[in-house]
Amino acid sequence: MNREELEEKLGRLPRRSFAHLPTPLEPCPRLSAALMGPQIWVKRDDLTGLCFGGNKTRQIEYLFAEALAQGADMIVAGAGSQSNWCRQMTAAARKSGLDIALVLVSGEKGNRLQGNFLLFKLMGADVTVVELASIEDLQPAIEARAADMRAKGRRPYVVAPMALDTLALGAIGYVQAAVELDTQWEALGLNPTCLVLSGANMTPAGLALGFAALSRQIKLINISPVLWRQDRKTDILRIAMAARQRLGIPVSIDPVTIESYDSYVGERYGVVTDACREALKLAATTEGLILDPVYTGKAMAGLIDQIRANRFAKSDVVVFLHSGGTPALFAYAEDLGLD
Ligand SMILES: *Cc1c(COP(=O)(O)O)cnc(C)c1O
Repeated sequence: MNREELEEKLGRLPRRSFAHLPTPLEPCPRLSAALMGPQIWVKRDDLTGLCFGGNKTRQIEYLFAEALAQGADMIVAGAGSQSNWCRQMTAAARKSGLDIALVLVSGEKGNRLQGNFLLFKLMGADVTVVELASIEDLQPAIEARAADMRAKGRRPYVVAPMALDTLALGAIGYVQAAVELDTQWEALGLNPTCLVLSGANMTPAGLALGFAALSRQIKLINISPVLWRQDRKTDILRIAMAARQRLGIPVSIDPVTIESYDSYVGERYGVVTDACREALKLAATTEGLILDPVYTGKAMAGLIDQIRANRFAKSDVVVFLHSGGTPALFAYAEDLGLD
């Protein structure tokens, strides 16, 4: 289908606007030269604007339209204690006049009043911290918090981080982003061979679906920030298919257009690796480009590694998605190897 047809399908879904769009697409000639690599361009989704921005804002636009349509008077959501998701969700709730209760898994940085955790408190979210082995076990705790709120007469909209409905609706935000990228590439005369991103689920699923719908020949290189129980590529395709259903578009995705790597996580989610530190410093010193220590730093480490393995030609155009997360940097001050 063409862009207009896909935009028409997207336009049928309710959406509450929060993001400043389109986000910029910037060349990084000094980073490319330092790596003697392909032409790197950065899609600045760290600049979506809602409370320091990030990729969650595009996803939240569709989720909040649903919450408001359902007459919710508050949001119940959860993730890790330095969650970018919960930060942008809290800001969206405040901007919509809603309360928000967050259930947070005590992560690497615990509940130090820094980074995203500081911002939850500043925006007055009702925060509960739980000790769990994995974010994948968070669902019952979120449901329990929502039940408490219902017992008090509230009407919570529950954002279930692992529910397929939530993931599919959030992914639509990145189908829209694929349309936006396609428009920018055409205007600039760019024909990228790869898009590199830090993805867990909604972002790569939406992009894969959007590019397939537009018949864009591009490879998605997904660098996972976390080791999941389920194979990433299978899960990305599952979410993309659910999003396709929601949009009502007859598109199939060729699995070879997606590569997903777990090999840059390091010790575990949220723990900075040496390669991530190097990537953060290289982007900052060559381009003044600030990445984050949990997601985009590791994704850039993956891109650097693949450039050094001679995967790309100098003439290749590679787009790196900056998905945000930068407020967490301040919670990681001691881990960055600076003095
Ligand atoms: C959440 C997050 C991701 C992963 O996004 P998904 O939609 O879950 O794939 C990547 N980068 C940053 C900065 C994030 O906060």
